[in-house]
Amino acid sequence: MRTVTVTGCAGFIGSHLVERLLRTGHHVVGIDRRGPDDPEAGANLQAALGNPRFHFVQGELADLPLGDLLAGAEQVVHLAARPGTRDGWGPSFAGYVRDNIIATQHLLEAVVAAGVRRLVFASTSAVYGEAPLPLRETGPTRPVSPYGITKVAAEQLVRLYGRQRGLDWVILRYFSVYGPRQRPDMAFRRMMEAVKAGEEVVLYGTGDQTRDFTYVGDVVAATVRALKADDAAGHTINIGGGSPVTMNQALAELERLSGRPLQVRRVPGPPGEMEHTAADNRRARRLLDWKPRVGLDAGLSRQWIWLDLRRLGRLEHA
Ligand code: NAD
Repeated sequence: MRTVTVTGCAGFIGSHLVERLLRTGHHVVGIDRRGPDDPEAGANLQAALGNPRFHFVQGELADLPLGDLLAGAEQVVHLAARPGTRDGWGPSFAGYVRDNIIATQHLLEAVVAAGVRRLVFASTSAVYGEAPLPLRETGPTRPVSPYGITKVAAEQLVRLYGRQRGLDWVILRYFSVYGPRQRPDMAFRRMMEAVKAGEEVVLYGTGDQTRDFTYVGDVVAATVRALKADDAAGHTINIGGGSPVTMNQALAELERLSGRPLQVRRVPGPPGEMEHTAADNRRARRLLDWKPRVGLDAGLSRQWIWLDLRRLGRLEHA
């Protein structure tokens, strides 16, 4: 069975992807700088670490002997990155450059040298920034965050290695991913934890901003398809949830889940946030035969229950 290498395997999306690949019989080499000693990453990795077909390598992408690690890898999914649209200003930009651009270039060299059959690169709706809606892959990229800039640069590197060095690649632009194991800095995770602790929910901006929220299981399904779909080679593809909602509508959904009125504190939105996102998913449908399956109400319920179980310490790897 084929070996797939997953960078960022201890993260939110990476850990779900690894489990899906293991369930379908693949051998997986997972790389991440965080390991079992990190509470969040350790919980994410828990299920995979018990699987004999999973080989975990802890380290910095730019420092690891990637040539050795990629020997025998047929496909690579590159998820490792420094995410987050609100940071990246001032001195923290250097960390974004290192993790999103320099580490990507290091990986691309090794992928080409190892003769890997396909690289799937995780990009983001944040590359669009101030672009007309619905966001189309053929449209302009004008990021409004330093993170978005580094992801545009990384996308360009992937394409460059395709043109000049023969790399077979697919770029997926994920839109606002949520679900169990969502990162602690992300909106639904922060808001749900506040509600469960009986604290007020902090909402950035007016709440009229729209997001095309995408359930993590749908993102994983698209990523697995991108590993195999012949027609997807050399394409950049939106992966969006399919029904954008305003943050105020999302809050109403949280209120329904919690069964009591939320206390909401609205604070001015920090720079770096797009006002609206809405994916044109037609290319994903055509090239990957993919469409989102989990709606926001069902997906948020799953995240809500996961947090309950996590708090009870019964299911770290839901
Ligand atoms: P995450 O932070 O949970 O996972 C990323 C993992 O990469 C982390 O475990 C981190 O330790 C690891 N990592 C980062 N830099 C590394 C390096 N230089 N060497 C080794 N390990 C490194 O993030 P996530 O939300 O799972 O996002 C995964 C990917 O999807 C990222 O590329 C992100 O840009 C992209 N993405 C995420 C979303 C979202 O809503 N979560 C949306 C669009 C795109």
